[in-house]
Amino acid sequence: MVIDATGCGPPGACPQCQHPAARVHSRYWRHIAGLPVGGHRLIVRLRVRRFFCDQDRCRRRTFVEQVAGLTEPCRRSSTAARSTMRAVAIELGGRPGQRLCTKVGVHGRRTALLGQLTAQPVPARAPRILGIDEFAFRRGRTYGTVLVDVESSRPVDVLPVAVSSV
Ligand SMILES: [Zn+2]
Repeated sequence: MVIDATGCGPPGACPQCQHPAARVHSRYWRHIAGLPVGGHRLIVRLRVRRFFCDQDRCRRRTFVEQVAGLTEPCRRSSTAARSTMRAVAIELGGRPGQRLCTKVGVHGRRTALLGQLTAQPVPARAPRILGIDEFAFRRGRTYGTVLVDVESSRPVDVLPVAVSSV
């Protein structure tokens, strides 16, 4: 089952500067997998708008609107489908979860289900300035590297580095 939809609400706010947009840059189609309807797989063909950010101080030139409760940046499943896949992964794990998803018509392969358990939210913007520092989990045995978004002072990732003493 395919539903065609068009983003037509008020323009969203720029994820970088939070200023509401006023001009449409372009439109394009996104295909979002939703939860099954009447036992049929559901695809929402959503025509979204890309807006200009006209703020001189903002480094972001354009951004794409998100539909609350349906889309998230860079995701091809609806918010509800992702929430369902995550619940299945928590309760059943990989292979049993995949079997259940197949029976109920949700697109949920084993690796995709397990990926829901560790999926981090997509940041609104990529870090421009990345700080890197090393530290010791256990001195002389296990070290790690922390990546920090310098502008927001938030950690981006922590990477373990195993040190062999052979
Ligand atoms: Zn902006």
